[in-house]
Parts: sequence; C-alpha cells; structure tokens
Amino acid sequence: MSGEKWFFEHFDSAGTAFGLRLKKKLEDVQTEYQHIEMWETDTFGYLMTIDGCTMVTSRDNFLYHEMMSHPVLFTHAAPKNVVIIGGGDCGTLREVLRHPGVEKATQIDIDEMVTRMSEKYFPELCESNNDPRAELLFIDGVKWMRECADASIDVIIVDSTDPVGPAEGLFKADFFRDCHRVLRDGGIIVQQSESPLLHSDTIIRDLHANMREAGFSSTQTLPFPQTSYPSGWWSCTMAGKATDVTDFRHADADAKPFETLYYSAAIHRGALTLPPFMTRALG
Ligand code: SAM
Repeated sequence: MSGEKWFFEHFDSAGTAFGLRLKKKLEDVQTEYQHIEMWETDTFGYLMTIDGCTMVTSRDNFLYHEMMSHPVLFTHAAPKNVVIIGGGDCGTLREVLRHPGVEKATQIDIDEMVTRMSEKYFPELCESNNDPRAELLFIDGVKWMRECADASIDVIIVDSTDPVGPAEGLFKADFFRDCHRVLRDGGIIVQQSESPLLHSDTIIRDLHANMREAGFSSTQTLPFPQTSYPSGWWSCTMAGKATDVTDFRHADADAKPFETLYYSAAIHRGALTLPPFMTRALG
C-alpha cells in the first residue's frame, strides 16, 4: 500500500475500520450541521462521507436504499403518504417512488448540501427528485415531526446518520411519540438501526424499547448486508401502529412492477427470521 491513497472509516468503539483505495478527493465542505466530503475511489465509484462516516458509495448503496424502502412499503396495507426523515442523498426517495400506489413522498433533510452534492455525484439516485409526487424540504426532522398534523402519514422512513449530533433526537422516545401521533392507524415507521453484530444489545434493543414506549404495538428488525458500513452488516427496524410488522404482502412483493438488485419477497421473508444471538439480545 506504499504511496497509495486510502480512505479509512475507523469505528473506534468496535476497534474496526473499513477502507477504500482512492483515486482522488473531490469535495470538502463544512456546513452549519456537518462535514461533507466526496471522494473518487478505485473500485466503489464515488464515496460520500459525513463527519468521517461512510454514507453512500456508487457501488453498494442499492443494498441500503432497497432495504430501507421496500420491506416497509410492502408491509403497509396501502401506503399513499410517505415521509423520509434524512435521506439527503435521495436514493431512498427514488425507491419509494417506484411504488405506483404512493401519492406523495416528502423528504426532510436538515442539510441541503447533502442533496446538492448527491445531485452532482450521484445523479442516478436523484432521478426521481422532480417526480410530481416528491417534495424536498431542508429542515430538522425532529422539529418537522413535532409540528406535523395527527393521523396524516402512512409510512415514516428515518434514513438518518448515526445517533449522534443532529440525528441524536431521531432515536429518542419523544420523537417516536410524535411519529406515533402523526401516523394513521395501520401506519408504520422504519429506522436505520445500525449493525446487528455490533449493536443488537445496545442501539437496536433500545430502539425497540423506545418505539414500544411510544405506543407502537409491533416491532421487527431486518438485517441485511451493507459492505461499506461498520461490520459490513446493517439493519432496519420497523414499528407498527395497530398493525403487525412481522408479515407483509407476499403476493404484491412477488409481483412488484419494478426491478431491484437486492430486495425480493424471498429476501424479505428471510430477513424476518433473526439469528438466535439477535433474538436473545433483543429479549
Ligand atoms: N445511509 C446513511 C447511514 O445509514 O448513515 C444515511 C444517509 S443520509 C445521507 C443521512 C442524512 O441524515 C444526512 O443527509 C443528514 O443531513 C440527515 N440528518 C441528520 N440529522 C437530521 C435531522 N435531525 N433531521 C433531518 N435530517 C437529518
């Protein structure tokens, strides 16, 4: 590796790191909220980092964006009004708008610069930004949810950074109480819930507890691979308001009218079965 340039995300609490060999650095911006950098890598295309953490790469973002959107949308009975908190790279928005039954998708990201950078380096993720059903807002998701009308939303997707800094409030019971209030009966929230290997007995377990404390009756974590995130193994956690999130519309998922690279009804079924260590850790 002498003379070669590498990007490493050090995950100090786990004593691990993930690296990508670099071609060159492209952008370095400090916004009011976070430090955004863009790199060109040798084998993963473009890489966006926020505060030194890997957010998106051209090569493997499909794993995350598909699993943050299709399981929850095929679990809800008939999702029409969807809200994405975070998601500034717009990949989740693109997946949500593949569902013809979705009538409105509102994306609320605190930092407009993330979207502007994504438009420049990940235009393929932004191809649905001008869909008439899409609305992009640049404000704090915690504040937006606090001010949102009761029983007005079908699905909330929290596609945020890790539970530190501006995203910390998005993992707290108060936020989930607001989410519970603004969801219609049958509504579902899904949140990116970090690494099954590293966080089952901390962040993920606490997420289930906070969601249930907020009044959600059913919660479920779905693990999935995510190469460029710490441990290479990630997850999303769903919570249902007066609805069961441990089953989904199998036939509709099997007959989905759009192509995917990772998500399928079989993958969804498999992800609902947690390994024993996770079942034990989540109690
Ligand atoms: N896939 C990434 C992950 O799992 O870490 C998340 C991608 S997305 C880029 C994360 C977004 O969350 C960022 O654009 C950031 O600006 C946004 N964000 C963080 N805190 C927020 C808040 N309080 N309200 C709205 N968006 C927030």
